[in-house]
Amino acid sequence: MTNCETCGSTEPIGVCCVPGVPYSAAYCGKCFAEDASPFGILRANISCCLSTKAFDDFGEFPWEGGQVIAEWALEERTYLDGRYMTMKEALRIKPITRIEIEEFDRMCSEHDFKAEMDEE
Ligand SMILES: [Zn+2]
Repeated sequence: MTNCETCGSTEPIGVCCVPGVPYSAAYCGKCFAEDASPFGILRANISCCLSTKAFDDFGEFPWEGGQVIAEWALEERTYLDGRYMTMKEALRIKPITRIEIEEFDRMCSEHDFKAEMDEE
């Protein structure tokens, strides 16, 4: 069995849906009790909602003012640097950069979603 995807514990108790994200992760008992989910998954989900234009005005995310992400998404709990915290706190430690969003947009524009849908 895989490790806890939130804290890396080798004693996961099960697999659950990550709140607000179309992804299921392995959770250990402590992360489940803390209602904490994998930082990378929550961060990627928030990244999907950001446009490069906003970075011109506000710099790295999270920014003060011009809020484009639902407050509940920033209040979700995660685990980073050995402790539990909200995504708002975690993103102050590891902010989302414009370069990441540009790379994400490039990958999406190069992927042929139409051809993929036609195959189904
Ligand atoms: Zn855990």
